[in-house]
Amino acid sequence: MQPISRRLFLTGSVVVSVGALTGALAGCSDDGGTAEGTTPESPESPESRESTDASATSATDATTAEAPPTTAPADTEPPTPPTTAAIDLGADPFTLGVASGDPGPGTVVLWTRLAPDPLVGGGMPADDLDVLWEVAPDDTFAEIAASGTTVAAAAYGHSVHVRAELDPGWWWYRFRVGGYTSPTGRTRTAPAPGEPTSQVRFASASCQNYQDGWYTAHRDIADQQLDFVVFLGDYMYEGTGIATVGENDTVRTHGTAEVTTLEEYRNRYALYKGDADLQASHASCPWIVTWDDHEVENNYAGLVPQDPADAATFAERRRAAYQVWWEHQPVDLPPPDGDEFTIHRSATWGDLLDLAVLDGRQYRSDQACGDPSLSLDPPCPETFDEARTMLGDEQEAWLLDLLATGTATWQAIAQQTVFGDVTLGGAILNYDQWDGYPAERNRIVDALDPARNTVVLTGDIHFAGAGTIRQGERGVGTPVAVELVATSISSGGRVNPAVTEVVRSIPDIVDVELEHRGYILHTVTPEAWSAEYRMVETVKEVGAPMFVHATYVADAGTNTLRIA
Ligand code: FE
Ligand code: CA
Repeated sequence: MQPISRRLFLTGSVVVSVGALTGALAGCSDDGGTAEGTTPESPESPESRESTDASATSATDATTAEAPPTTAPADTEPPTPPTTAAIDLGADPFTLGVASGDPGPGTVVLWTRLAPDPLVGGGMPADDLDVLWEVAPDDTFAEIAASGTTVAAAAYGHSVHVRAELDPGWWWYRFRVGGYTSPTGRTRTAPAPGEPTSQVRFASASCQNYQDGWYTAHRDIADQQLDFVVFLGDYMYEGTGIATVGENDTVRTHGTAEVTTLEEYRNRYALYKGDADLQASHASCPWIVTWDDHEVENNYAGLVPQDPADAATFAERRRAAYQVWWEHQPVDLPPPDGDEFTIHRSATWGDLLDLAVLDGRQYRSDQACGDPSLSLDPPCPETFDEARTMLGDEQEAWLLDLLATGTATWQAIAQQTVFGDVTLGGAILNYDQWDGYPAERNRIVDALDPARNTVVLTGDIHFAGAGTIRQGERGVGTPVAVELVATSISSGGRVNPAVTEVVRSIPDIVDVELEHRGYILHTVTPEAWSAEYRMVETVKEVGAPMFVHATYVADAGTNTLRIA
């Protein structure tokens, strides 16, 4: 949880000497669908586009959220793919795979995006298109439990978000259009709030710079058959990338300059979404996704860009980035409308888990003191201004209310930056993390009930860590939460592993692992929260072996960690 500014990534190596911290802190910076025979059919009228044919289920298009589900008679035959005879897409449009997300009690969002030519705008005709979705109890699709048509709107990059209403259990889903059938995904809904639930298994992960490494960790996630994945941001990186493979340790290249426009963001997401391991991870279970900074621009804060020269056009850039994020994620949210886009939300998993999903970027005050990298100076007075915020007033109030009213055995806060106090001799090493927003952090910590079991899930920092969150004095006060910091899926580490022991010596840090990439596999029961830190030996070689660094356990009622 050693905080090293991402700006270090951009500015190269930095060496720090203070007390014991003398080490060098190194900077760093499917299968496709298959054509099938289809029944010629005339294009449907607009009125029929939201039609649903379901026995156990129904659905609404997220772009028209709140529409009441319609239910057809149980004996109705599934519809044939719509408008297929009229469409000649020229190539398989399902190049970006399928995904599902935001599992609720009886609901889950099914996602795909049509893109026969994914890296150059998608390659779709300018028209909206009807897409058939199908849900089945097994992957043969011999029996269709639910199906319907929805619109892939050109205005949203021909992305598809179907909010399917499904009975409890696991389901398989796919999409069909123009004679093509998508890959198959597996998904599930959540148990109802308060429903007795004996276990949930999920991954937390973040930071998957395409250039830095292969997504071996995603293949491992897919193999685990988890209930869901919580993705904590930096799903894609906006930066330049005309690097030659091998240069700066890159294994593959973005191939274009930094992305700033709607079409450029779409092409960048499409590049990432083309990865077979990432597609497998999405297809294996539903995801709960939030964003961090790189989905727009490194270290942006609200409407303040990293590079002041971009200020005049940054609002427009952010609006484009937010829309394209929505287009590419299986989120149970309507598309953004205007400059702001509310994505913080909550989830529940029976009586076992309440989950708050935060947005730490859209509403935050600009990083204090000029956002210095690894400054050992005392923080400037601005840092402690009570009005400074990472979440914004509305989201902070929403979170505090959620923490006060939750009833599940465990409550988790899924968010981006390191939450615990990791200041060193009073110096804030990274103003982008919660150390740079101490007043708001104190309000949240003070609101945590020591009698509840709270887990903070963190990404962003590109190394693994585990620690204790206390009210009052660091190392001494009452423990009110544990923090579990996932390392990155592939993004390069920024701290030299030689300083591991120094970082571990910071009070309340239980452990850090600075060298490897991976994710955390959480197994949660009423008695204990177990966090298995799964890591890949190297992301520089395809399919390198995975290993378990350590497993940390928080026994219910303790808000502290032990090594299993
Ligand atoms: Fe990152
Ligand atoms: Ca980040």
